[in-house]
Amino acid sequence: MRLSTAVIATTISLLGAQSWAADTAPANPAKAASAATAATNREVLTQLPFDDRADYDVARRGLVAPFEGPILNAAGKPVWSIQAYDFLKQKDSPDTVNPSLWRMAQLNTNAGLFQVTEGLYQIRGLDLANMTIIEGKDGLVVIDPLTVTETAKAGLELYYQHRPRKPVVAVIYSHSHVDHFGGVRGVVDEADVKAGKVRIYAPEGFMEHAISENVLAGTAMFRRSMFQSGSQVAKGERGQVDTGIGKGAPVGGTTSLIAPTHLIVQPLESHEIAGVQVEFQLTPGTEAPAEMNLYLPQLHALCMAENAVMTMHNVLTPRGAEVRDAKAWSRFLDDSLVRYGDKAETLFASHNWPTWGGEGIRTLLADQRDMYAFVNNQTLHLLNQGLTPLEIADAVKKLPGELGRKWYARGYYGTLSFNTRAVYQRYLGFYDGNPANLDPLPPVESGKHYVEAMGGSDKVLELMRAAMEKGEYRWAAQLGNHLVFAEPDNKAAREAQADALEQLGYRSESAIWRNIYLTGTQELRKGAPEPSTRTVADLVRAATPAMFMDVLAVRLDSDKAVGHDMTLNWNFDDVNQHFALTLSNGVLTYREDSSHAKPDATVKMSKAVLDRISLRQLDFPTALKQGDIKLDGDAARFKELMGMLSTFQPTFNIVTP
Ligand SMILES: [Zn+2]
Repeated sequence: MRLSTAVIATTISLLGAQSWAADTAPANPAKAASAATAATNREVLTQLPFDDRADYDVARRGLVAPFEGPILNAAGKPVWSIQAYDFLKQKDSPDTVNPSLWRMAQLNTNAGLFQVTEGLYQIRGLDLANMTIIEGKDGLVVIDPLTVTETAKAGLELYYQHRPRKPVVAVIYSHSHVDHFGGVRGVVDEADVKAGKVRIYAPEGFMEHAISENVLAGTAMFRRSMFQSGSQVAKGERGQVDTGIGKGAPVGGTTSLIAPTHLIVQPLESHEIAGVQVEFQLTPGTEAPAEMNLYLPQLHALCMAENAVMTMHNVLTPRGAEVRDAKAWSRFLDDSLVRYGDKAETLFASHNWPTWGGEGIRTLLADQRDMYAFVNNQTLHLLNQGLTPLEIADAVKKLPGELGRKWYARGYYGTLSFNTRAVYQRYLGFYDGNPANLDPLPPVESGKHYVEAMGGSDKVLELMRAAMEKGEYRWAAQLGNHLVFAEPDNKAAREAQADALEQLGYRSESAIWRNIYLTGTQELRKGAPEPSTRTVADLVRAATPAMFMDVLAVRLDSDKAVGHDMTLNWNFDDVNQHFALTLSNGVLTYREDSSHAKPDATVKMSKAVLDRISLRQLDFPTALKQGDIKLDGDAARFKELMGMLSTFQPTFNIVTP
């Protein structure tokens, strides 16, 4: 019997934007843009103010030293390479990339050390996010130490090559997403944190959300994030060019986490950190469940975390997560405008580049406030008139007035189409209210019926080709999806569907829509490669035993479990946590801080043993044999439970049944 308690490892290693190893990415057999796609992309050049190239200077302003990389891990494998994006140096966009996205992809490729203002520096282009360094009297304060230790370390080294080598005395995690804390051990030692030499600040709820957001639905999120990041698609003008908020996630590497020593719990809190005044503004329930902006009055600098970046953000991330609150997001942006709009001379964020000058800052904050409020209000406006999600997405094609022409309101990451549907989901859920959609047939069954109704697969292929001929790729993809789900082994169907998705990718202004389409294209042509994972020991250790119990309950195969009712006590004495598990009706539930009076069995182990099992450093039978796990009562009942757990594989099909 094998307890795949790698459960936490497999779910937690799925955090955020995971990536494929670059050297396992298959050769890219991508096709050219069709004439219709090329024409659509050329049309974009007439719709937006491409003559305004101010951002090209702004994105490079304050460059102290460019970074060429690559960044290697301990085994000498590349974790990060900005040179893979050299193709973006070509000024004009190719037919295969939406020109608006090409522009954004060029702007996000500036990599190096930048001076934002006196005493304030940023490392940009060495990871998906930015790392900001404040020069305090007594040492450095690092805001958001990137995704992995390798990139964070390289960033700090780059800084030290050009600035005095003062110690890092404080770290600030702006929010609970992994690209903002995972590299912390690359900039500080935990021993110094424990000794009180380094303080770590984070918003209330940070630890809980940093771990929990990715646990229960982790495998699916991981799989879907492969599509969103486009990391299995080769980089290039027919492949991955950007993600909208940066180039992409580092490959492999070590994700770390050191728990915060100081939590920000009040809506506004001021602290002096290393001689620098910092005013924290909590913004819960915005871009992340635990997030905060901060203002540095001595530097007149405002950090907007990930709440105001140079693109429309996601109200609902396509990798999957709980839907965010566009209304709260908008209101917090307005609070920042009211509070800091007249004071701030520099605005910077944890992605993209800064904004200088009070007027530009006020305009940015007001515009983005309006953008998220519009997404929220216009969706509600239309749903109250009876429009359903797809109708709303179709009706809201652009932001109102001049807002739609502002580069930082374009949808390089979030899109209006997706975000309006997200707001619908927030208020009304996935059901559109139409009884015909209460109980529709699932994809394979409806696909078979549609194909038959249309006169068979050859006829559907003919219709697809005719649609593509006219540039109607969305329709072609709908037809193709029915056909592929009806006949997954039909090679011509898969190829046609790949062609349709590919052209949709080439047209997308959103970097992540492009990535999603092109990943789908590639999987239809070549299948899915094996994913690479990061080292995530810190995250596993930070997961609570209760999270582990939740995951066990999710992994239980209910069909197998019916008729196997039992009660178990599961004790972690070292952390004084006791759980009473009950299996009944094929369902596993538990009570915390509780014990059954007469359990079928009692499991005793330490949290440390659980962590080692989760990290696959120890397997369950060995742990039992060695006495790391002790069983009292009917040991067979416990093994019976373990035998009814499913293991989730992050390679399930998406574009095929
Ligand atoms: Zn981020």
